[in-house]
Amino acid sequence: MGKPTGFLEYQRAKQPYRPVGERIRDWKQVMRAWPTEVLQKQGARCMDCAVPFCHQGCPLGNIIPDWNDLVYRNHWREAVARLHATNNFPEFTGTLCPAPCEGSCVLGINDNPVTIKAIELAIIDRAFDEGWIRPDPPVIRTGKKVAVVGSGPSGLAAAQQLNRAGHWVTVFERADRIGGLLRYGIPEFKMEKWVLDRRLDILRKEGIQFRVNANVGVNVPAEQIQREFDAILLAGGATAPRDLKITGRELDGIHFAMEYLPLQNRRCEGDDIPEDRFITARGKRVVIIGGGDTGADCLGTVHRQGAASVHQFELLPVPPKERAPTNPWPLWPNIFRTSSAHEEGGIRDYCISTTGFSGRGGRVERLHAVRVEFVSDGNGRQTMREIPDTEFEVQADLVLLAMGFLGPERDGMVSQLGVKLTERGNVWRDENWMSSVPGIFTAGDMQRGQSLIVWAIAEGRQAAKGIDRYLMGSTNLP
Ligand SMILES: Cc1cc2nc3c(=O)[nH]c(=O)nc-3n(C[C@H](O)[C@H](O)[C@H](O)COP(=O)(O)OP(=O)(O)OC[C@H]3O[C@@H](n4cnc5c(N)ncnc54)[C@H](O)[C@@H]3O)c2cc1C
Ligand code: SF4
Repeated sequence: MGKPTGFLEYQRAKQPYRPVGERIRDWKQVMRAWPTEVLQKQGARCMDCAVPFCHQGCPLGNIIPDWNDLVYRNHWREAVARLHATNNFPEFTGTLCPAPCEGSCVLGINDNPVTIKAIELAIIDRAFDEGWIRPDPPVIRTGKKVAVVGSGPSGLAAAQQLNRAGHWVTVFERADRIGGLLRYGIPEFKMEKWVLDRRLDILRKEGIQFRVNANVGVNVPAEQIQREFDAILLAGGATAPRDLKITGRELDGIHFAMEYLPLQNRRCEGDDIPEDRFITARGKRVVIIGGGDTGADCLGTVHRQGAASVHQFELLPVPPKERAPTNPWPLWPNIFRTSSAHEEGGIRDYCISTTGFSGRGGRVERLHAVRVEFVSDGNGRQTMREIPDTEFEVQADLVLLAMGFLGPERDGMVSQLGVKLTERGNVWRDENWMSSVPGIFTAGDMQRGQSLIVWAIAEGRQAAKGIDRYLMGSTNLP
């Protein structure tokens, strides 16, 4: 522990963002780097707890107190080694993770938690700047071949671990670029794509093969990869969107978030997308249905495209400002949050149920809704009911549906391979991360349902251990 009184002397600093007026005119990352002196003071706030609840809060089990201390003492090279011991891609989590570790930081009981995520990002940024992150291919190859289907964070983490174990790894991705939701879901203003490309360059140099436009179960028959590879990892994500089957849903101008966001990401990558295929918010009155993170990503994109107005509607009640008594530390705090996109504008409204859409000439013009409340049914459950006489409508030229996901797509690969599904429709796995079909494993959103990058990386690592053990009889992977 660097400074025993650090947590008494220093306050938690706020993540620096670029000014709103500047950032909504471009697609560059909103977050700014912290000056080193500020970070060292933030690292000094860590109490090096005897029972570090931050470990428990982090799905990767990151060794957080160690790197907080190493940053305080200016030992950056050791800090990055400690970081990489548990996390393949700290630059993704350091930029994008909601930081469950901070939610369970002991300092958070009666003060603001340590800025763990910012420290993580600063360590990995420094390591890349100093040239410490270099390809590290395995010395010995086992001759075993593994196919990883899906190039999101779970597939990439598994691929790197399996490659380190000496197996030949090929990643199959149906999109034209590698990265999963890191590439085509998450907007540039949250993470610029050169960050992803920088890491992919290292994975390629370590010997991992990538095949894009390779849709397993469609243009790559599933039984072909079964024949050609010794093991398969299904890491195809949970991309089936939740729909709103109400009057007027068929009108033009109503789109799923994941029909809308990838088009802007592609333009940011320099792709030439014709206007008639592009979905833009420019000059439009926009309504986003869904108050979660995907909705916030739509919101930031809508601002930058120059919408005339934007509402974001959420069905559930507004979360409390402070933890509710039923949501104590060290649980993840379910509190009201303001993302960078919310700082930039738009109207957020809660307890709103959309009842229909109407329009003219086949295009949406209005959204119809009613206010709802949640009342106890006497059995400890909350039921939703409409509040009489609260029906209203808003003008809408563009409606974005960001109401979450229903699990993996079941047609194609999943049905061709015949893997068993859970009751929730995710791919079933045993404690070794193997599906119901021997030699076929699964990780990430495909087996968990739509979740977080940190879970995807953690599960990719665990599944890699399962595969290595299956191929070799034992494993040394961490
Ligand atoms: C808009 C949006 C924003 C998000 N923002 C954040 C955030 O800020 N922080 C955070 O922690 N989490 C965020 N998430 C969640 C996070 O991105 C996911 O939990 C994570 O990417 C899951 O990783 P994965 O590897 O399991 O799957 P994915 O990232 O979904 O990758 C799966 C890949 O598999 C490919 N694939 C599927 N089927 C096939 C097939 N048959 N053949 C070949 N390829 C196939 C898909 O094309 C895709 O590229 C966000 C999610 C969305 C939708
Ligand atoms: S719980 Fe917080 S204060 Fe304690 S070791 Fe972890 S980061 Fe440091």
